[in-house]
Amino acid sequence: MGFLDRLFGRKTGTETAPAKEEEMIADVRCPHGSLVAHWDEPQAMGKSDAVSYYICESCGERFSPEQGQRFMTEAAERVRIAEEERAQPSEG
Ligand SMILES: [Zn+2]
Repeated sequence: MGFLDRLFGRKTGTETAPAKEEEMIADVRCPHGSLVAHWDEPQAMGKSDAVSYYICESCGERFSPEQGQRFMTEAAERVRIAEEERAQPSEG
């Protein structure tokens, strides 16, 4: 044994993924999947059709209600597709 490990360049022992932070920095594209709604008028709070703007929790970017709702729809769609794929892993 042993030579296979060397052949494939495997390292034995503990090897953790070291590049996680770098990966996050390198990946500048944010899916804006976690938007938080903000209301200018307190009495409008909680009304999804009266949102003043959205802030992305991940990158801090600010979006208009139209943009924010589109991103949230897209994010929900991604989750829905992922769940559907998981529910039926092989079709056909
Ligand atoms: Zn974002």
